[in-house]
Amino acid sequence: MAFQNVISISGGKDSTAMLLLALERGTPSLLPVFADTGHEHPQTYEYITYLEQALGIEIRRVKADFTNDFERKRNFIANNWPDDLKERGMKALEKTTGIPFLDLAILKGRFPSTKAKFCTGELKSLPIQQQVELPLLRDGHRVISWQGVRKEESLARRNLPHSQLLDLGIIAYRPILEWTVEEVFALHRKHRIEPNPLYSQGMSRVGCMPCINARKGEMAEISNRFPEVIERMAEWEQIVSQGSKRGCATFWPARGASEVTLERHGIHSVVDWSRTSRGGRQFDLIASTEGPLCSSVYGLCE
Ligand code: SF4
Repeated sequence: MAFQNVISISGGKDSTAMLLLALERGTPSLLPVFADTGHEHPQTYEYITYLEQALGIEIRRVKADFTNDFERKRNFIANNWPDDLKERGMKALEKTTGIPFLDLAILKGRFPSTKAKFCTGELKSLPIQQQVELPLLRDGHRVISWQGVRKEESLARRNLPHSQLLDLGIIAYRPILEWTVEEVFALHRKHRIEPNPLYSQGMSRVGCMPCINARKGEMAEISNRFPEVIERMAEWEQIVSQGSKRGCATFWPARGASEVTLERHGIHSVVDWSRTSRGGRQFDLIASTEGPLCSSVYGLCE
């Protein structure tokens, strides 16, 4: 039975280091995969292409497709929503946008959050599993899923084993579990591979832009450097609100607010708050802490 080494690439430093390690070792049957959420910064897309060219490899892109889920939700709305809301809901779900992150939010009628982290699973784990790993298993391969997680990233990752048998018989392999961030960047330098340029632009992690785990300072940095990202999020808040039964969906849920509006709690007010030194209205950000990043133990999000 042939082994296939599936390496999930996020465009971040850890998964890049893991890829470099796999290439350095001459790992056979290597299959690097990038799960595109449609919510990455353009520099990350360029970085994936840069890696392909610099390393002479191909990185497969996969994307979640919610077309069938939209149809199911339309049927649900038709049969269950009050008459005065049906038209708005049906229109919002008329067709998918082709942007997985946005489609998922429209479908759920809300954005993912630090307390409802459905994004990693739906946008990264599942597409890789369904489009890459399951077909390999069906063809009789053993699948080794390389995961670029490090213990020092979070408590959740501290007790992970180096290898583990997962559902469906997939073997998780975590070769950089003990590595420090210095070792990660050292491997980049050794192979003359530039890290994703977003790290030198105030970003502590590379993933969705912004990630639901963004910190307060990071949001201030994003709004200063990439105002177009904030405008895109404002537009998405309008779109997702249309598919939300209560008519309002903000990127970050406001803590303790009895009545939520885009004007008072939308992305622009989060940006205003992110520029305050302390106090002010609190949003559901891992704002001023140095806490864990994505809770996924699979290393699909930094
Ligand atoms: S945890 Fe962050 S990077 Fe990962 S899918 Fe969710 S928003 Fe994107």
